[in-house]
Amino acid sequence: MERRWRAISFSQEVFYGIQDKRIIDVIKSIPREIFVPDNLKASAYLDSALPIGFGQTISQPSLVAYMTQLLELTGKEKVLEIGTGSGYQTAILARLANRVYTIEIVEELHEKSKQTLATLGIKNVEYKLGNGYDGWEEYAPFDSIMVTAAPPHIPPELLKQLKKNGRMVIPVGPQNQTQILKLIIKTQDSLIERDTHYVRFVPMVGECK
Ligand code: SAH
Repeated sequence: MERRWRAISFSQEVFYGIQDKRIIDVIKSIPREIFVPDNLKASAYLDSALPIGFGQTISQPSLVAYMTQLLELTGKEKVLEIGTGSGYQTAILARLANRVYTIEIVEELHEKSKQTLATLGIKNVEYKLGNGYDGWEEYAPFDSIMVTAAPPHIPPELLKQLKKNGRMVIPVGPQNQTQILKLIIKTQDSLIERDTHYVRFVPMVGECK
């Protein structure tokens, strides 16, 4: 039986000024309801963060769109994502980049996200259960890195695994307080660090390196 998904409806304002039509179209094409628990499906198309179990949350779609836009993906990139969670952000990255390498520290979420993305027919994703502070050396360097849990500082290993001219989007700040969403651009010989918005992400757990 063919399933028909409802589209997310956004007003222009909640899109944080997202203009990239590719991103808007991809977000509209991903059925967010399959990433949230059964009892929250009715809220899946609201522009709000929702709990996904294990004390974790799926981010609000407009913030996902904004963070994705900061990476300026063209379709050719190899992207590292830290914090697979429900896999919602992973699915969006997978549709906009060449290949996504995603790391999650909670085993149940790691397993479940794999199944969810398989139901969407998404195949250009590699999944790892582990601590995101270590990155994924085997496949480094990455064109882009997206971090969706907040560490207290920028993990040095992630900076190391970012390609020259690569971009990293990362919320940085103390646990359970407001963090600053940073865009880092690695130029030939320096790092450009731009503060964008104040945000509230779950903390990055695991051994902090
Ligand atoms: N992007 C996700 C939401 C992320 S919530 C989505 O779209 O659903 C943050 C996720 O980061 C949680 O699943 C949490 O378990 C994971 N996480 C926290 N610390 C981590 C670490 N050190 N390494 C990898 N994943 C981590």
